[in-house]
Amino acid sequence: MIPRNEMKEAEKAYVLDESLYQRYPVTRQAFVTVSTKDKGEISYLHFLEKMKENMVRRMMEGEKGHQQQDNALDLGANAFNLIIGQYGFPNFQLLQWKPMFTPELMQKTPLALPSSQLTTLVKDGAQLYGADLVGITDLDPKWIYSQDLFKPFVLSEGSAPEETEEAFLIPRKINKSIVMAFAMNDDMINESPEVPASTATSIGYSRMGIAVVALAEYIRALGYQAIPSMNDTALNIPLAVEAGLGQLGRLGLLITPEFGPNVRLAKVLTDMPLDVDSPVDFGITEFCKNCYLCADHCPSGSIGYGEPTLEGVCDNNNSGVEKWYIYPEKCLRYWQKNGSSCANCIAVCPFTRGFESMQCFECDRCETKIGCALQVNTHLRIKYGYLESNVWGNQPKVLKPRRKGF
Ligand code: SF4
Ligand code: SF4
Repeated sequence: MIPRNEMKEAEKAYVLDESLYQRYPVTRQAFVTVSTKDKGEISYLHFLEKMKENMVRRMMEGEKGHQQQDNALDLGANAFNLIIGQYGFPNFQLLQWKPMFTPELMQKTPLALPSSQLTTLVKDGAQLYGADLVGITDLDPKWIYSQDLFKPFVLSEGSAPEETEEAFLIPRKINKSIVMAFAMNDDMINESPEVPASTATSIGYSRMGIAVVALAEYIRALGYQAIPSMNDTALNIPLAVEAGLGQLGRLGLLITPEFGPNVRLAKVLTDMPLDVDSPVDFGITEFCKNCYLCADHCPSGSIGYGEPTLEGVCDNNNSGVEKWYIYPEKCLRYWQKNGSSCANCIAVCPFTRGFESMQCFECDRCETKIGCALQVNTHLRIKYGYLESNVWGNQPKVLKPRRKGF
């Protein structure tokens, strides 16, 4: 694993047009817009119903990769995700914003240590609870959703996060985000679009649920406020970029140096005084400009071939950040037809299984003849090795890259 201090810092995490950018409402997410179009009511998970119809049909037809044992393994993997927070709803089930078991005395006694020591404590805690990568950033309010399904997120002057009839109140003093990445099983992701890829995703969600609940309770027991969060409350990818976990790729996901885009992301928001990490630049932007593997292998045409832009390409996008925008509704419509979620874009990305600079010489698409920042990263990865996607509870192992993608 490349030591973070060997990596180049990005000059800035994003090119952002303040005149275009507005906080994003959950109601414009494709999960919601597709569910609403299907059912005629605002909801988050109704899109699953059509997907399950096709899941059952393909299972009854005995299709390879869609058999009962495949779906059963997926349902087991998803159990803790559903128990903990159903992919993430604010202040919901075990993602509640109040302490669960911590004695009041501990809640009211903030551990008075320098920020560097508190930072080490929470990063070690995050890894113990299952995170494969952890970084910290200031919580920029622009990444907090403007509203959930039915009420807004409002910044407050209060001392603790609170849900009222009208709003979710997040105190301004909650100004740090601890962002965690959870590696998914790359052999299972490689079976996309068949059910094992969905199972890898499901166990990723279950693991992230356990980690955010545990880390939030740990922080409360150290005397600080904590909001455990999966997909809810704030946008994971920009926070992960700012926390130095990776860069945004053409496929619309975070690409990490260690696992590529083959991760799930979650975070805990806190008022604990912590040291922040810096965004990294390991050449993804240049590389993606010349690599179209995810676009070539996307069965729904959701990923484009153009340059990054400031303006989105559909209503689900949030304009104002320079990036590759994708068509999330087309993606979800394919999941419904497929009877299972898809991860083709993650599976084919050269960074999922490890990338070697030799692959550059075998590719005739690239316009970069004199090498790019990616070469530096590649040499560092050869020097330090790659982290294996690990199963929860196992220590990650460093291994040699497996070539894939060209
Ligand atoms: S998950 Fe599948 S359908 Fe969706 S963008 Fe990726 S490759 Fe395309
Ligand atoms: S497959 Fe290629 S273009 Fe797509 S995200 Fe990965 S490196 Fe970028």
